[in-house]
Parts: sequence; C-alpha cells; structure tokens
Amino acid sequence: MSKPTLYRGGKIASEGSSRLRTADVVVDKGIITQLGAGLRAPRGSDVIDCGGKLLMPAMFDVHVHLREPGREDKETIRSGSEAAINGGVTGIVAMPNTDPAIDNGGLVQSVMDIAAEKARIPVFTSGCITRRRAGEELAAIAEMKEKGALIITDDGSPVCDPLVLRRAMEYAREFGLILASHCEVMELSGNGAMNEGRVSYQLGIPGIPACSEEICLDRDIRLAQHTRAHVHIQHVTTARGMETIRRFKKEGVKVTCEVSPHHLIFNEEDIRDYDSSYKMNPPLRTKDDNKRLLKGLIDGVFDVIATDHAPHTEFEKNQDFGSAPFGITGLETAVISLFHHFIRSGKFGWDLLVKRYSAEPRRLMGLPEAKIAKGEKAEFLVFDPHGTTRFTKQYMRSKSSNTPFLDQELEGAIDRVVLGNKVLVDRMKRARGK
Ligand SMILES: [Zn+2]
Repeated sequence: MSKPTLYRGGKIASEGSSRLRTADVVVDKGIITQLGAGLRAPRGSDVIDCGGKLLMPAMFDVHVHLREPGREDKETIRSGSEAAINGGVTGIVAMPNTDPAIDNGGLVQSVMDIAAEKARIPVFTSGCITRRRAGEELAAIAEMKEKGALIITDDGSPVCDPLVLRRAMEYAREFGLILASHCEVMELSGNGAMNEGRVSYQLGIPGIPACSEEICLDRDIRLAQHTRAHVHIQHVTTARGMETIRRFKKEGVKVTCEVSPHHLIFNEEDIRDYDSSYKMNPPLRTKDDNKRLLKGLIDGVFDVIATDHAPHTEFEKNQDFGSAPFGITGLETAVISLFHHFIRSGKFGWDLLVKRYSAEPRRLMGLPEAKIAKGEKAEFLVFDPHGTTRFTKQYMRSKSSNTPFLDQELEGAIDRVVLGNKVLVDRMKRARGK
C-alpha cells in the first residue's frame, strides 16, 4: 500500500555520538532499507527533503498519566497517546492512579485492550504496589505482571509503611519487576503547594520541604539495598536527593531514576503570579537545583528523562493556587522545550536526548531501542531546528492544556513522526519523487 520514502540529506542523531552525520534514509514497508550518502530514490518513491533537519529515534516516556478509567474528561488512552505522538514519543507507560486504581490483572488487561484498539503507538501500563493505592495490602502483583504490567508503582503517593514497601520489594524482586517510587513523607508535605523556602514565605503559600522527598528517597533506596530489589526513583527534584542516588549507585544498589523537563527548566521563582500551571508534585525547587540536576543529567546520574504528563481540566486548574490539583502536561512540549532551553545553546547534545529519552527508557522497560540503522523498523522523528512551535490549544492533542508553555512560541518544530509504515504526524512540505 505504501510507496518507499527517501528522506534526503538529514542529519542523523544517535545516542552513541555527539557528531551528527548527514545521510539519506530509505524507508520501505516500514523498514529502513537503505542508509547512506547520495542514495538514489527508489522507483516511485516519495522524496522528502530533510536538508537542515534532524532525524532521530522516536522517544519513549516511562511516566505518563492517561486518566482512563475514571477521569476521561482530563485525558483518555487515545488522547494521551495522540499527545505523545505529537511530541515525537512513540511509546508510553501509563501510571495506575486512575479511578479505579489499576491494582489487578483485569484492569491491566482492560487498559491494554483499550490501548490496542484506540492508540496508534504501543501503550504500556504499570500496576499499583498496594491495593487501591491505599498503602496497606499488596496489590495482585503476580497477576498484573502476567497481564503485561511493566512496573509497579503507587505514583501520586508514597508507600508510607516501610514494612509494606519491604514486602512489595521482595515480591517485585521475585517477579523481576521494577518498583517505581514516588518519594514523599506525607506528614512533612502536609497541605504544602510549592517548595518550602524564601519564595513560599513571600507568597504566603504553604511549603513542601525538600527533605519530604529526600527522607523518603533515602528510605526507599535503603530498602532496595536490603531486599536487592530494583527501585526506580520517580521525578527527582532536589540536588541532595540526586547525590544520594549517586552514592548508592556507586555502592552497587539497583537504583535508577528520572528527571522531568520541567524540573530542569523551571524553579520556584516562576510561581510569582500564583499561576497554577507551575504547580506540581514534587514541586519546582530552586534555581540551584535546576543547575545541579542539569549537571546530573549530563554526567549520567539520571537514567531517563520522563515527563510525568499530568493532565487536568481548566476548571480545576483555574482554582486558586492552593486548591488547584498538582501536575502539568508534558508529552507535547518535552523534546521542543529541551531543544529550546539546552540543546540550542550547546548545554548538551542530541545524543544525550536520544540516550535519555529514547534508548535508555526502552532498555529500562526491557524493550528494544528505536534505531536509525539499516534493517531496523522505522521509528523516528524529523525535527526542524530552524522552525518554531507555538503551543496553542489547537496545536496540542491532549484533552488538557495545563502547561506553562501554553501559547508560548519555542524554537524547534517536529515535522514528522514515523512508526513502521505509518506517518503519524506530518507537517512537512514534500517534493514529488520520480
Ligand atoms: Zn509522582
């Protein structure tokens, strides 16, 4: 049904090399059949001029809230997967804090069934650590694993009882599952709505201290050390927490971790006008944390970048800062905002983005990487570093638009997203081939 396509003269980004090499790429029936310089267009092919543009492996996000079942007014498996596609992401892992929470095999199965029917990309799900995410009894972990849950997590909440967490880790280890941890001491967070510190005092907003995250993170890694389970620390926001992870990694503990684009780009100073699109949990920390987390990403403490895409309705987000729910969307803005803020200015290279937001997340989940190489399945995006993107509601495909980037124009544009023999996004002008 599809003709071959020649992508001519793009620069190829890969995780292994900071040098971009210019090459032509031929995709036929969903497979990269040729890769090299000066390729001749196969008979009857479409020719796409990629001069000045980049081709890079499509991204994978291990931390996404799809809100289905229960809050389909915020997002659905379909709309969330379309948001992913729009951001150049061709695989996602859904969090289980839905309503009802995904804590048994039947619910895992139902998410997978809906995804198979409605999503144009692979959508995976996680399962809860504890039943109803209540932190008391273990969820049906074996059953969820059997139905295809990739990780277990009570994300949105910590597992407060260390003995319950210990048992969960022992279980996770036996089943070869990663236990992903949302680190927070609830008593310390209290009714906090932003980072506790100078800015929260000035604004009169109750604070969430950094130690709320750091104490729980420390505890969870020590339990992983003791049980020999693999713990994955979600959305790390403080430099001290990051240093704890670095130390335990050196000791050989099986700990991996993620950082979100917003915790690299924004900090508490951005909350000045009580804009709830800067409200998330864990909260934006300090300018110094921004800098040090960025260094951590570059020197390799962070295994993966993950957005924690957390859609909410306008109605809910328009409440006052204290009452609005935590969370911002992220799937559609991640690649472009990281380009705009860091890659453009040379803070890090495309290879790092590909490694931390495409290759490593897939390896972490036990999936094959997307690669731009001969014989591989086509799974890449065409990025225009000279283009711009305005994140209007019309542009975004998420049902929600609770992002600080709303209506902002950033440098960089995703022109095309290719998965197998399907072009999932197409904003390119194309020239007819012969
Ligand atoms: Zn979380």
